[in-house]
Amino acid sequence: MRFIEENCGIFGIYSNAQCVDYIYQGLDFLQHRGQEYCGISTFDDGNGINHITHHGRVTNRFTSEELRSLEGTWGIGHVSLRDRQPMKWQTKVGEISVAFSGNVINAGELMEDMMNRGKSFYKGYDIEIISKIIIENGDIISGISALSEKVKGSYSLVVLTGEGIYASRDIYGFRPLILGKNSEGYAVSSESRALQNMDMEIFRDVVPGEIVLINYKGFQTVKQIDSPRKAHCAFEWAYTASIDSIIDGVSVQEARNNLGESLAQRDIDETDIAADIVAPVPMSGVGHALGYHKRSGINYQDVFLYNRYADRSYTQITQTAREKMAKRKLSVLPYVKGKRVILCDDSIVRGTQIFNKVRDLKKAGAKEIHVRVACPPLMHPCAFGISTRSEGELLARKFFKTGDITSIKQLRDLEAWIAKKIDADSVKFNTMDAFVESLKIPRGNLCLQCFDGILP
Ligand code: SF4
Repeated sequence: MRFIEENCGIFGIYSNAQCVDYIYQGLDFLQHRGQEYCGISTFDDGNGINHITHHGRVTNRFTSEELRSLEGTWGIGHVSLRDRQPMKWQTKVGEISVAFSGNVINAGELMEDMMNRGKSFYKGYDIEIISKIIIENGDIISGISALSEKVKGSYSLVVLTGEGIYASRDIYGFRPLILGKNSEGYAVSSESRALQNMDMEIFRDVVPGEIVLINYKGFQTVKQIDSPRKAHCAFEWAYTASIDSIIDGVSVQEARNNLGESLAQRDIDETDIAADIVAPVPMSGVGHALGYHKRSGINYQDVFLYNRYADRSYTQITQTAREKMAKRKLSVLPYVKGKRVILCDDSIVRGTQIFNKVRDLKKAGAKEIHVRVACPPLMHPCAFGISTRSEGELLARKFFKTGDITSIKQLRDLEAWIAKKIDADSVKFNTMDAFVESLKIPRGNLCLQCFDGILP
């Protein structure tokens, strides 16, 4: 499924040697968070900031000559689905470069205010707004602090300066941001996998509202802005983050396994578990399917083969092109013929993708398809801009025109309706309680607004 439309990954390092290889590798490990654009800025003492951005993936686009030209021992990088970052600026505190992961919901309002005060914008991207708020407030710490008062939405960011790298997370901590180190340097990353895979020790997560300066002294908290509460995006564990990451102390793999186990437990409790195999919709369904297998004892078996060579540098623009690409990427394994399949996915958005998968499996001779979905039904577009879906596009909203699911009977009615819509033999979701319990994070520390409509 693709509910998350506006995703990014950020990486930064202060090193005791040339840092560009670290940034390049770090971005490669974060590429799942955005494949459309990539960029690197490094601080070259004496020469200021070196800076290159590209359309496409980091390993396809950066040449070795370009990498050699990015001299400096500290720097930042960015991968994105939406726009080119980092953005480099000349300011009264010297050259800076800014990259962020998140969304500014009140961008129009903030731009209008700034334009009325004589500011101009190149395209009005969120990164321009974020950067200009930081710059117009004088020093970097005051600038980042001003974001917490002005910006509605979510942001984790890095600012490259002559004195080091500033890293910060919005006051709710919607987006992840984690610190790591080794003998060669101090790093910050959207996900722990980039640090782990570069033999860095995980230091800790950046706290919501915290501003950290990373330089030769290591990590220093230069300011802690008051945080009303934590509201980590629950989607990170169910779908967005890589399965080998640990976010806010919780392993993504464990969370997905727990979500799958909980789906199996519901089938066991409802004595509704006659199947030959359990299989994932690759790739985000893998952890959920393994959890289902563990709890149910039903054999785990892939039914789709992921064709890594059908990969592409850019996201397809039209829906038809996207569907063709999706078909090339996943082919059905003939093994499925005559089998009763439990098919695990992370969530259902419009229902088109899961409908196509069920159709492909049935065409290949599958006897029954029982769809099991890790997240509760999506009932609201994300108020924090992490998805741009409108309410009308969400499949569950076509059944429940208003209100939210408040009883198991309502959930069952919806499941039966969706099963018919996507031509599956049955559909079941995790209930909200089971979902939260599986993540092992206190409910009050999570954002669940796209499921229950409650704003943090
Ligand atoms: S509304 Fe949903 S997608 Fe948006 S931040 Fe909250 S949990 Fe994440």
